Amino acid sequence: MEKHKEKAYIEGKHLHPESLMMSYGYEPEWSEGAIKCPIFQTSTFVFKSAEEGKAFFELAYGLREKGPDETPGLIYSRINNPDLEILEDRLTLWDDAEACAVFESGMAAIATTLLQCLEPGDLILHSDPLYGGTEFLLANIIPRYGIHVAGFAAGSRRGEIEEILGASGHAGRLKMILIETPANPTNTLVDIRMCADIARQCSTEGRRVVLVVDNTFLGPVWQHPMKHGADLVVYSATKYIGGHSDVIAGVTLGSQELINPIKTFRSVIGSMAGPWTGWLLLRSLETLKLRMTCQVKNAQYVANYLQNSPHVDRVYYLGHLTEDDPQYEIYRRQCLAPGGMIAFDIHGGEKEAFRFLNSLKLFSLAVSLGGTESLAEHPATMTHADISTAEQRRMGISDKMIRLSVGVENPEDLIVDLEQAFKAV
Ligand SMILES: *Cc1c(COP(=O)(O)O)cnc(C)c1O
Repeated sequence: MEKHKEKAYIEGKHLHPESLMMSYGYEPEWSEGAIKCPIFQTSTFVFKSAEEGKAFFELAYGLREKGPDETPGLIYSRINNPDLEILEDRLTLWDDAEACAVFESGMAAIATTLLQCLEPGDLILHSDPLYGGTEFLLANIIPRYGIHVAGFAAGSRRGEIEEILGASGHAGRLKMILIETPANPTNTLVDIRMCADIARQCSTEGRRVVLVVDNTFLGPVWQHPMKHGADLVVYSATKYIGGHSDVIAGVTLGSQELINPIKTFRSVIGSMAGPWTGWLLLRSLETLKLRMTCQVKNAQYVANYLQNSPHVDRVYYLGHLTEDDPQYEIYRRQCLAPGGMIAFDIHGGEKEAFRFLNSLKLFSLAVSLGGTESLAEHPATMTHADISTAEQRRMGISDKMIRLSVGVENPEDLIVDLEQAFKAV
C-alpha cells in the first residue's frame, strides 16, 4: 500500500487533500475494478499459506522488523481492515501527519490516547471548558489510575498557566497538555504555539511532554495544530468529518512513534472503528472541503445578521474578532477561517432563549454539531448542564446563551427562520 503515496503527486506537485479524497490509498484492481472501495464487512482474513500467516503475525506482534518491501498483512478486523487503513491514509493528508488511528467514537479516540500515554503519578494539564465527555473522563476516571489533573481557563496567559502548573505540586511529572480550541461554546481560542512552548520547556531527555489538541471545531480544514507544535491531534469525526449526523467516530493523528503504540493499545482494548463506520467516513471525506466551505460562508452570513439584530446582546464568533483583541493575533496565526459555530446571548434570559428555540422551524433543536443541517441548543441547560452555575459564569456561559451549528442550507432561509423565531419571543 506504500506505492499510493506516489499518486499524491503530478509532475512533482503534491495535490491538495480535497483532490485526493476520491482515490488516495485505493486501487480499483483490488475489487473487480470498482471505482469505490467496497465495505470489507468481515471479521477475519484468509491467509494464502501458513508461512504467510506466520509472517503477518511476526509483524503484527513486533517479533521482527518489517522488510523493505513488506506491507503488514490483513489478519483480523480488530487489528486491521482495508476500509480503516484507506480512511487513515486519507485523513493524514489534511493535517500532514505521518500516521492516523480511527476509532468507533471521539471519546474512544480520546480515552485510548490518554490511557496509552499516561502513567500513575503523571500530571495532565488541560484547558477549560472541555467537551463534557472529556471533562467527565478527566474528573472521574483518569484519577482512578493515580494520574493528576489540573485545568486552566481558555484564554489564559502563559504566566497564569505556569502558576497553575506550579500550584498543582506535580509539575515535575507533567506528561500531557490537552487543549480544545476554539473552546465550546464561547469560541475562546487557546494559543497552540504557547502550549507547545510550555510542553517543550517541561520536557526532559527521558520524558517528552506531549501536546494534544482536540481539533473537532475547526479541523481538519481550517486549523492544523501540528504546524504550530502539537504532537497529537484528536477529533470527534462524528462532527465535521462525518458531517451528516449519521455516524459516531473518532480520530487520532501524529507521528508514527506516537501513533503506533496507540494503535497497539486500540487493538488490545478493541476501540477501533468498524468497517461500516470506515466506509461512511470515506464517503464523507469526499465532500468535506465543500461542506466546510459552505458552512463558513453561511455562518458568516448568520453571524452578521445576529450582530445587527436588536434581539441579540452579544455574538461570539471568530469572524468578528477585532485587531485590538489579544485573541485576534492568535486567530490570525492558527486559524484559516472562522468556522461554522456561533454562540449568541439573546436579549432576556432562559425564558426568552427557550421560546426562541421552541419556535425554530428550519434549525433543529439538538446537540452535536458539524452536520449538513443547522442545529441550535442551550448550553447552560444542555451540553454544559453538569457544570455548576458559578463555573458556567466564569466560562462566559449564561442562561441567555444559544449555540448554533450552521449547516449547508440556503443562508437566506436560515435568516428567515431566525427572524420568525425572534418575533415569536
Ligand atoms: C463530540 C465531541 C467529542 C466526543 O466525540 P464523540 O464522537 O461524541 O464520542 C469530543 N470532543 C469534542 C470537541 C466534541 O465536540
